[in-house]
Amino acid sequence: MKHKSTIRCKEIHPHIHRIILPLPGRQPGPVNAYLFTGKQTTLLDTGTRRTTRHLEESLRQIGIGFSDIDRIILTHGHIDHYGAARHVVKQSSGRTAVAAHCEDAPVVETGMEVSDRQFSKFYRLMGVPLVFELLFYGMGLFFSSLAENCRVDVCLSDGGKIQVGDYEATVISTPGHTKGSICLYLEKEGILFSGDHILGHITPNAFVMLESDFDIPWRMSQLEFYDSLRKIESLAPRIVYPAHGKPITDLPRTVAMYREQFLLRQEKILTILKKGEFTVYSIARSLFPEISGKRLPLEIFLGVSEVFTHLQVLEKDGMVASHIRRRKQYYSLK
Ligand SMILES: [Zn+2]
Repeated sequence: MKHKSTIRCKEIHPHIHRIILPLPGRQPGPVNAYLFTGKQTTLLDTGTRRTTRHLEESLRQIGIGFSDIDRIILTHGHIDHYGAARHVVKQSSGRTAVAAHCEDAPVVETGMEVSDRQFSKFYRLMGVPLVFELLFYGMGLFFSSLAENCRVDVCLSDGGKIQVGDYEATVISTPGHTKGSICLYLEKEGILFSGDHILGHITPNAFVMLESDFDIPWRMSQLEFYDSLRKIESLAPRIVYPAHGKPITDLPRTVAMYREQFLLRQEKILTILKKGEFTVYSIARSLFPEISGKRLPLEIFLGVSEVFTHLQVLEKDGMVASHIRRRKQYYSLK
């Protein structure tokens, strides 16, 4: 039987290591951080602040300490990707620079995409009962305990070149999962590091994108996600290394699976709407009747976000209509 430590860390390409870090919950599963050694020692994603010791041990196996890391690049502003960045910066006495896409930099720096007030406004609009709003708030507190806010020193943007270890990578902006999600592409090697934009075992969430001031969220994360997918398809990488799960060698098949899933969800939402007009919350509860137990608040949040982002597309395509009544948004077939 293999010793655990040999499983956590593996050289996937010369001077590029995949480090597997634990994450609570079944999905999306442990986080993959990637270490590039050489000219510019670079860590791509960090895991949460709860796994800094795992990270340190894995780096030690490769002969690297926190103070050897020149730069951390964050694929996006979710806690399981940036949670330990501040710890590394502190341990390196500030010599490690942190880079992220400009649009996700605020969430890394403050832990918040928008204020609680804006979230509250969104939940009311979606018809989420107050009790769940409070549970979401508690869930947010738990999640924020998994990450430390961290200053972003370098703002990345689409098409920029960046040295990672001995390789030159191109930053590919892939909004959808978050506003500032990025992939890194090693063109000569045909290797793509996809963050959460492409995962092999599940369809990534295209989370609702809230702005600091909105009446109804206007950015359409599902459309942005599929536009970003087309961008990656046109690169035709030889292999994709995601931030969770195993490498992907058949990208067209994975993307086809996402598209199938997307259409299936839309069909199911349209079927529910045949029965009348509903809020996003009611549609989400009908769509996912099985959710219960400890994960209920999280699953409801994910369900509401997913249903809303699909309805945005259906409304744009003229399939559904919506109107606001007593501060709640109702959807019906057109
Ligand atoms: Zn994510």
